[in-house]
Amino acid sequence: MTAAVEFLRVSRHFGPASAPVKAVDDVDLTIAEGSFFAMLGPSGSGKTTCLRLISGFEKPTGGTIRIFGQDVGDIPPNRRNVNTVFQDYALFPHMNVRDNVGYGLMVKGVDRRTRDSRAEEMLALVKLEGYGDRKPAQLSGGQRQRVALARALVNEPKVLLLDEPLGALDLKLREAMQDELKALQARLGITFVFVTHDQGEALSMADSLAVFNEGRIAQIGTPAEVYARPRTRFVADFVGSSNVLPPEVTRAFGGPLKWASLRPEMLRVTAADGVALSGTVTGIRYLGSGSRLSIALNGTEVAALLPAGQPVPDPGATVGLAFDPTALHVMEGEG
Ligand code: ATP
Repeated sequence: MTAAVEFLRVSRHFGPASAPVKAVDDVDLTIAEGSFFAMLGPSGSGKTTCLRLISGFEKPTGGTIRIFGQDVGDIPPNRRNVNTVFQDYALFPHMNVRDNVGYGLMVKGVDRRTRDSRAEEMLALVKLEGYGDRKPAQLSGGQRQRVALARALVNEPKVLLLDEPLGALDLKLREAMQDELKALQARLGITFVFVTHDQGEALSMADSLAVFNEGRIAQIGTPAEVYARPRTRFVADFVGSSNVLPPEVTRAFGGPLKWASLRPEMLRVTAADGVALSGTVTGIRYLGSGSRLSIALNGTEVAALLPAGQPVPDPGATVGLAFDPTALHVMEGEG
């Protein structure tokens, strides 16, 4: 595997050494060439700072960053072959779409004819043929997002950084753009590094992902690995709401003697009589495709998904709970 981006014990601390803000703290990371890589984590966990370290707008206070094997410590942003798509798109309002897209080529001194024809190619790529003469204000949010993408791609970067690029879009458009981005990345073969705090987005789009927590990587792996085998309670909670079951509950099912996580969809709700485990319904949320129940169980709250069609119990009702112990996952990260 060729590494597009490598972090070797990279840190970016802000403020005085006596009381630093550890935005990025001792991070090791390898992003494979041609992959769609997601950085997932709550607000303030260090994702954007990591992107800025890759683009060169931020310098590490410790460690080494390599892009395609080259130490980029002394390489300025414009020589890194990396481009960024920002959440607010950062389009120039007074320029038309064609000039916005061709801007990166103009900066390089490329002549107008070549610039315009490259801009038109990029607009075709993002399905915006014929929009070249419009101003950004005359576009929808999704169209502006595509212009920003075309502008970032015109310089043929080897790595494209995307900082919450779909954050400003409504849910339907967001889902459509997720599919488009994924297809575009596959077609171009460029390495995409994508920052999001939306776990569904990271799971559905990424080839692999890093889960950030307080400037560190809590786990790195494929979406299936991270979802099915969260290393810590933080990852289990953040990536798809997980039930964390205490040993006395899992033991009743022949499960492990440690804390274990269980995905809500693996918890079955049954009639209350004659079962080993029962709890009290404390909340019901209708999801359309089914219902999500909150259930108080031995002092912890767990969530279960009730498929559409199954009768929904009343709040306060006692229900039985069952699960297959092989669906339990012991978190190695905690004792
Ligand atoms: P969000 O999802 O909200 O964008 P994030 O995960 O991208 O969050 P960062 O923007 O990387 O997080 O910030 C990580 C931490 O570093 C935060 O506590 C932030 O306040 C701090 N930080 C970032 N930039 C600076 C700076 N220039 N000076 C001081 N602190 C900073």
